Amino acid sequence: MTVTPDPSGPTVAEPADHTVTDRFLAANRGYAETFRDGGMDARPVQRVTVVACMDARLDLFAALGLELGDAHLIRNAGGVVTDDTIRSLTISQRALGTRSIVLIHHTGCGLLGLTEDFRRDLEMEVGQRPTWAVESFVDLDGDVRQSMQRVRTSPFIPHRDDVRGFVFDVHTGLLREIH
Ligand code: ZN
Repeated sequence: MTVTPDPSGPTVAEPADHTVTDRFLAANRGYAETFRDGGMDARPVQRVTVVACMDARLDLFAALGLELGDAHLIRNAGGVVTDDTIRSLTISQRALGTRSIVLIHHTGCGLLGLTEDFRRDLEMEVGQRPTWAVESFVDLDGDVRQSMQRVRTSPFIPHRDDVRGFVFDVHTGLLREIH
């Protein structure tokens, strides 16, 4: 069977080219033009894994002087150490050779001030209790300490002697170490 185009039919809209993902694709074409394959393998050069908040104001490459290939970056809401963070840290160390761990929370975090109401409201709205904890906190320094403790007590992570925690100040760009 042949299909004859109907000239009176609806015009097919051009694909939208102005969503954020479309802008990413345009930027990526430019990136690929100058991209040079450094021939690195998957093992991070600096043998370090950074666990940090997903906050958009935290540019880990610039803030830590990282280069492509230097480090594993694990990011989530809050930069908290969850079971899935432990999963990635375990793979990072056991399969890909990292040895040091750096944990970074930051001032003005969206998780500060969230309460258990968030979880309760969620359950009320969707009729299902999430299997994960919100991991909100009110004490920034205390939560960094708790995250360091979770890493240091994990039996799955073999290298736990170089674990350090910090708070990044989104106004000054400085890291403050938590002891
Ligand atoms: Zn945050």
